[in-house]
Amino acid sequence: MCGVFGIVGHPEASNLAYLGLHALQHRGQESAGIVSADGGRLHVHRQMGLVADTFTAQVLSGLPGPAAIGHVRYSTAGGSYVKNAQPLVVAYAGGQMAVAHNGNLTNAQALRDELEQSGAIFQSDSDSEVIIHLIARSRQPTFEQKVVEALQRVQGAYSLLFLTGRELVAVRDPFGFRPLVLGTLRGAHVLTSETTALDLIEAELVREIEPGEMVVIDEGGLRSTRPFQSPRLGRCIFEHVYFARPDSVLFGSSVYAARKKMGMQLAREQPVQADLVIAVPDSGVSAAIGYSQVSGIPYDVGLIRSHYVGRTFIEPQQSIRHFGVKLKLSAVREVLRGKRVVVVDDSIVRGTTSRKIVKMIKAAGAAEVHLRISSPPTQWPCYYGIDTPSRQELIASSHTVEEIARYVTADSLGYLSLEGLGTAVGDPESRTFCTACFSGKYLTQLGPSPARLLRPAAAVTEATARA
Ligand code: AMP
Repeated sequence: MCGVFGIVGHPEASNLAYLGLHALQHRGQESAGIVSADGGRLHVHRQMGLVADTFTAQVLSGLPGPAAIGHVRYSTAGGSYVKNAQPLVVAYAGGQMAVAHNGNLTNAQALRDELEQSGAIFQSDSDSEVIIHLIARSRQPTFEQKVVEALQRVQGAYSLLFLTGRELVAVRDPFGFRPLVLGTLRGAHVLTSETTALDLIEAELVREIEPGEMVVIDEGGLRSTRPFQSPRLGRCIFEHVYFARPDSVLFGSSVYAARKKMGMQLAREQPVQADLVIAVPDSGVSAAIGYSQVSGIPYDVGLIRSHYVGRTFIEPQQSIRHFGVKLKLSAVREVLRGKRVVVVDDSIVRGTTSRKIVKMIKAAGAAEVHLRISSPPTQWPCYYGIDTPSRQELIASSHTVEEIARYVTADSLGYLSLEGLGTAVGDPESRTFCTACFSGKYLTQLGPSPARLLRPAAAVTEATARA
């Protein structure tokens, strides 16, 4: 769960990267960073926290030059410390390089063990550092050939931006797990995770970077090659369900339209007699509108979300802990009182939030609460870059739909089928998508202990590394 942004050929590269990262903030709230290139030298600023808190006008003025890459991070491999904040920057025999990575490598621990055996010293416990070591060790003559050689050894998900003093290199893994698009802004090239970042800086979308494609931008212009092959595509279906922003065009189709179709299909598959459809904001809104349109049940605003609660909210002592969800969501009694309510959300993970939400809606006076989920039961952890708990913690891995309904105290519970979800994203059999979180069909080999892709670096304790 990360976002990347890169721009080459613009005098205000780092200011635009800053704006682009704002549009990608939903993809990661733990840390933010920008590296700029100026006359062959790299300048970096990385910090724990949100984009708005990380960069000031003064910090940005220290990031000069016509090229920059940026990153927002939510850790899926490696801990939440500033040493893992990206872009990572190193100096090696070939010069300086910076890397911004969205995705998770599934053979990172095996590669890291091998590199450490031969003397490599790791500074972070992020899987992205493995790529840097492989590049630094490559004997290939050019940077782009080093990148190709390094990436031929890694497995898993990567949408990557590299910046050196001479070029920007963008690569997308051959399954295309994570998104990456190319845009243009008055002659400058822009590369970013989601089109919403292009919209914000008024850049035009050119196209997606193809799965397996590498794009190099240097003083000779832009060149594209296809060095990486895979037998099939594996674009992350959960990006469409939850992760991407509804105003983005993802894998060629509108996220809003896909979510609305999920809700429409959900209404066909899981109908119920009710007076009102409401959404769990923000992620359930588009699907709830679709559900309402097909069912004919009016849509209203039954829950309000506070946008000012940080992810790092410190849970108080047990006796008042249940206030947690109330900080984020509150029920509108006026709307809910005496009503049979359909509540649409995108997914159930542990079931704890859903349970609190259902109770909150009942406490506000709803007569019945029917929970409808615009994706199938989440039964398997993601090893390709979405933060999910272990299989044991995923409620649907060990409970039936009826049992989950009882746990969350809903009067009924219905999920969208996998076929219905595929239909909503224009691929009924999900041949071009990764559906591992719902189906358990992982597209790459997983290491011997996939639950732990990367052990924390032994020498670094939390206390010393935390920002
Ligand atoms: P839970 O109470 O654990 O079932 O959480 C369900 C809620 O978490 C839903 O409202 C989802 O929108 C949201 N959600 C789903 N996947 C994730 C994720 N990977 N990270 C954070 N929130 C998520």
